[in-house]
Formats: sequence, C-alpha cells, structure tokens
Amino acid sequence: MKEIVIAADLGGTNLRMAAIDCKGHILHQIKRETPHAERADEIVAALVESAEICRSKVKNEGEIIAISAAVPSGVDYRNGIVVKAPNIPCLDGFRLAAALKNKLNLPVILENDANAAAVGENWTGASKGFQDSIMLTMGTGVGSGIIIDGKILRGIDGMAGEIGHVCIEPSGNPCGCGSRGCVEQYTSATAIVRQTKELESRYRKSPLKNNSRLTSADIYDAGKSGDELALEVFRRMGFYLGIAIGGLVNTFNPEVIVLGGGAAAGWDLFMPHTRNQIAKCAFQKSVERAQIVPAMLGDDAGILGAAKLCFVESRTTAKGVAFN
Ligand SMILES: [Zn+2]
Repeated sequence: MKEIVIAADLGGTNLRMAAIDCKGHILHQIKRETPHAERADEIVAALVESAEICRSKVKNEGEIIAISAAVPSGVDYRNGIVVKAPNIPCLDGFRLAAALKNKLNLPVILENDANAAAVGENWTGASKGFQDSIMLTMGTGVGSGIIIDGKILRGIDGMAGEIGHVCIEPSGNPCGCGSRGCVEQYTSATAIVRQTKELESRYRKSPLKNNSRLTSADIYDAGKSGDELALEVFRRMGFYLGIAIGGLVNTFNPEVIVLGGGAAAGWDLFMPHTRNQIAKCAFQKSVERAQIVPAMLGDDAGILGAAKLCFVESRTTAKGVAFN
C-alpha cells in the first residue's frame, strides 16, 4: 500500500493540513484560521480535527504512517517540544508531539516552519537535487532553513538557522527578539513598509506618502513606475540582504539560496543591489557557485517539507531510530 503522511503547517494566522504521498503529491488539503487560543489544548483540538478530516478523505488511498507538524517556533526535535512560539504563546514549552500522538495514535514529528519550508523546496521545488541549500522566507518576519549534506541544520537546541535574527546593524531598529538591527528588520515585507514610512518625508512627490494601509506590494508597484522613494527602500533592502547572503555564502559555500515570502516578489528591484553587495563581501569562487533563485512552492512548502521529514524519519526508524 502507498504510504501517506498527514502534514500540518501551523501559522500565526492560518493552519494548513494535507495528506501527502511519498512522491510529494498533495492528495487532500484544507486551510482554516488558527484559533486565537489561550490554552494549548485548543490548538491541539484544531490540529486533531483537521488531521481527522484529511485521514477520512484518503482512507482508501493508502496507509497513513505518521503525522508531522511545522510550527512557528524553535523546536526540541528529539522530544517533540515547542520551545518558544512568539505568535502562539500558549504553546511555549508544550509537548505538542506527545499530545497529538495521544489523540491520533500515530507517530508524530515536529519541525520549525522555516526549516520545513527549506526541506519542501529541496524535495520538489526550487532547490531540488542540491545537497547544500539555504532558504530565506521574507514575509512578516524572516525565517530560514539551512540544509547541509542533505540534512537540515538544527543545532544542539533546535534553534539553528535563525538568519532573520543575525545582527547586521548594531545600532539599528529594535527587533522583537530583543536585539537590534536584525536581518528581518531590513529585509521582511514588514520592514519594507516600515522603511517607506521612515523615509517618506524626504520624498515630497511620492504617491506612497500618508497611506496608513500600505503593503510591500504597493511599494513594489510604485517602484516599477519609477517612484524614487520605493526605489530607495528596495535599494536598502537589497543592500542588507546582500550582507546577510554574503555571510551565508562564506560560511556554508551553498550550491543554491532560495528566496521566498511576500518580499521576494520585489526581486527585480532589490536583486541588483543584493548581488552587488554579495560580490563586495564574499569570496568570488563561492559567489560564483551559489545560485540565487526564487521559491517555487509558495504556501505549500511547509506542509511538503513536514511530510518529507516524516518519510525520511520512517526509513530511519526501520534502522532502529524511533519516532517521538
Ligand atoms: Zn531579531
């Protein structure tokens, strides 16, 4: 029988759940709002209900071997514990894998959502076929996953790969993590909007001025029409992204760097500045090796990556390493 994994991508806003087969085909998918939960068991109930729907939809198509959940948090992978989830604080320190296993009676693995997205793109998307790849997701914040020798880099506490919180401007904008001048303060979609507002008084004619509902897409559209304010914002974003990627190129010598998330849509406005800065700060040979490519899987990257980790883990399990 065909093996199937039920994979979840739990975001601060939306919860996606899908039944996925071992070739990366999404057999059934549902999306709902993440409950505004005070208690972890409300999140568990939403996950269990969604998983049961997926399970019933594919029950005649194969054998469900495990559940996998990508969560917006550092993850203690071995013990299935959510370390700290800034957007879903009721899960901080919670044994989510054990709670799901108890309700669904299947093996469960947890993974950080940005790590899962990197694995998803590596499985069926933009970095498919590469052993050494890095993905940055530039959305509300900046998430990232580093895959070296085909394996996700987790670090001793599951906190590795937080490129979004590498400091690139020590006296820069305060960050939610408690530091200042983090990569995500200059390269996220949120940062693009903030920087436009910070600079707008210098650009008297910009159509972006005094717009309280501004989005990064509006700023990109203005830039494409030649608006100087928008072009300056993307120049700065590209410069800082170049510093970040230059550091990654010199540290990891990757074959490919995948850029996803809403801010990546401004590619043609920021990328020339990004490439210019990378060339200035990284080793030429490593720069020539590292392709920089747009993500391909969009919102499906997280569920696909979560599922892939289960299929890998189940093969490991057959050799004697247990699920949580
Ligand atoms: Zn930070």
